[in-house]
Amino acid sequence: MNLVLVEHADGVATDVSLQALALAEGLGGDVHALLIGPGAAQAAQGVPAAVTHVAEHGALGAFAPDAWAAIVCGVADRIGATAIVAPGSEHATDAMARAAVRLGEPLAANCIAVTPGDPLELTRVRWGGSLLEEARLHAGRALLTVAPHAVAGAEPGSPGTIETFTPELAEADLVVRVRDRVAPPEGGVSLADAKVVVTGGRGVGSAEGFAAVEELAALLGGAVGCSRAVTMSGWRPHTDQVGQTGNKIAPEIYIACGVSGATQHIAGCKGAKQILAVNTDPEAPIMSIADYAVVGDLHEVLPAISAELRARGR
Ligand SMILES: Cc1cc2nc3c(=O)[nH]c(=O)nc-3n(C[C@H](O)[C@H](O)[C@H](O)COP(=O)(O)OP(=O)(O)OC[C@H]3O[C@@H](n4cnc5c(N)ncnc54)[C@H](O)[C@@H]3O)c2cc1C
Repeated sequence: MNLVLVEHADGVATDVSLQALALAEGLGGDVHALLIGPGAAQAAQGVPAAVTHVAEHGALGAFAPDAWAAIVCGVADRIGATAIVAPGSEHATDAMARAAVRLGEPLAANCIAVTPGDPLELTRVRWGGSLLEEARLHAGRALLTVAPHAVAGAEPGSPGTIETFTPELAEADLVVRVRDRVAPPEGGVSLADAKVVVTGGRGVGSAEGFAAVEELAALLGGAVGCSRAVTMSGWRPHTDQVGQTGNKIAPEIYIACGVSGATQHIAGCKGAKQILAVNTDPEAPIMSIADYAVVGDLHEVLPAISAELRARGR
């Protein structure tokens, strides 16, 4: 018997949760699903699991990772789950890490394939997507997260039995919780949808230096991205960060200016169809990854490109 933590939004299970369900089906045995919080009952209607557990509690309106972990562990114990599978989303991964600590079991994150057995054999994505690891998981109860969009999802379908319950939560389970959400600035093209992204790294030099990056992005109808060095310096918000711990994007053209090309940065932009690098250092790692490279000072190169685009009527 395996338990899958299913996340949901707007009354339906998320795609990554359906992918987790599909991977869990490959483990053999009955699959139970667990949905938590407001909207769970509605979303449960489209979850193709033998039994779907719906946790309802007045305190579950905002994400609280320890509360989720407590609920996951409680249901897993109650049904005698041999494996707990969850999507590799931020919230589910957070909750699963805490569940692993509670259960004293290892967590294998970002799995893309699992062969049942004892030990379980699994393939998982490591190092920001730069390598695949073949591993054996020795555990009393296997805890797995599934790398997003690497596994075909289960088809939404008719539910089996739906069991709604009110979990018992301790005060400590609600200490860590989402208190507020800050919406990204309105207007412009979003980083996720932009066909052209102009990214600035530490080489931009300052928050003000991003004026040249913004100008070029605007002329190309694109969005502005940045490296972690930039967000750590407080020059741009984290919502602009590209990389392993930021946005993972796949634009038509990615223009990396003053970015060295660290593995963790490339993890976020390697899906780009073309990469153009502007860097003063011809030996910077980004130069060997880029399809096109300009060796030069971005403060001269970017205004020159913008001026040329303007001259051509952009
Ligand atoms: C767990 C972990 C997660 C991480 N996640 C991320 C992530 O999500 N995203 C991310 O970006 N990083 C991430 N990092 C950090 C990453 O390792 C690098 O430190 C970071 O990407 C470096 O940013 P940078 O390229 O802007 O700066 P640097 O490495 O300092 O590079 C600056 C570049 O600018 C060039 N330059 C300087 N002046 C100019 C100029 N005037 N004109 C043109 N070029 C110039 C330099 O030659 C250099 O190549 C992570 C690290 C860890 C450990």
